[in-house]
Amino acid sequence: MPIETVGVVGAGQMGSGIAQVMALADYEVILMDVSPAGLEAAVAGIAANMDRQVSRGKLAEPAKVQAIGRIRTTVQLGELGTSDLIVEAATEKEAVKHQIFHDLRPHLKPETILTSNTSSISITLLAARTERPEQFMGLHFMNPVPIMQLVELIRGIATSEATFSAVCSVVERLGKTAIVAADFPAFIVNRVLMPMINEAIFVLHEGVGSVVDIDQSMKLGANHPMGPLELADFIGLDTCLSIMQVLYEGLADSKYRPCPLLVKYVEAGWVGRKVGRGFYDYRSEPPVPTR
Ligand code: NAD
Repeated sequence: MPIETVGVVGAGQMGSGIAQVMALADYEVILMDVSPAGLEAAVAGIAANMDRQVSRGKLAEPAKVQAIGRIRTTVQLGELGTSDLIVEAATEKEAVKHQIFHDLRPHLKPETILTSNTSSISITLLAARTERPEQFMGLHFMNPVPIMQLVELIRGIATSEATFSAVCSVVERLGKTAIVAADFPAFIVNRVLMPMINEAIFVLHEGVGSVVDIDQSMKLGANHPMGPLELADFIGLDTCLSIMQVLYEGLADSKYRPCPLLVKYVEAGWVGRKVGRGFYDYRSEPPVPTR
């Protein structure tokens, strides 16, 4: 079945980026979120990103107008029923994702493929709670979606080859590069990246270094384009904590213990750039370390 209409659930950082790249690759996009304000912000963000691409000569104005015209927004999950492919990119909570797939059930066409952009939750577990585990897989984009080249593809235990190859073709049409990861906690990128970020937070927690010195160390000493704390703020500290918890519980290994300071920041609601405050305070320019 050709994929032409893509339903995206969740219009946060990831969902809005996914909607943007899908629309630019000529897919019809239905972007759904429970928050009308979130949808409004997502469309404004997509338009601003595309304007930047136009001003840099990377996108023609008419192509931008057409791409924006291909994105429809809704707060009704049922409106995603006409989608050939669903990309679930809602909050990283297992219960939220189960509920979304459960509520989608009566609206979907039999051939619709379901995917989740989850960073860490078991694809097999999410698939098992749907009525179509063979048409379910992980489609894990990196942040920011329009810029990052990589997509991780994750088969659940029941994913069919037809589903896998249909989703591979989508990644190809987006002009991105796919790698295949087995369905184990946090897949490949986050399995390696998150313990490094968590360790940087332990280094801060134990007073080994300041926020600025930790970030400088990894930028200038290991050639990372962003420091680990800056990157954690960019990803969202709530997302980082969820991934560490999944690694800790999923692999039952104490080496993945989330740093108590990370827990504290999430408790405070200081979850990074998206709220204006995390390890840095972004409400002033340049951002100021919060410890
Ligand atoms: P976010 O907090 O920016 O956005 C989540 C959105 O989901 C919000 O707009 C929220 O209103 C919406 N939402 C919550 N419950 C919903 C529901 N029942 N129905 C519809 N929408 C709902 O989070 P994000 O960073 O965009 O992450 C989304 C997903 O992408 C998570 O699974 C996360 O693990 C994954 N992911 C995140 C990153 C990253 O760097 N942030 C990278 C790759 C994958």
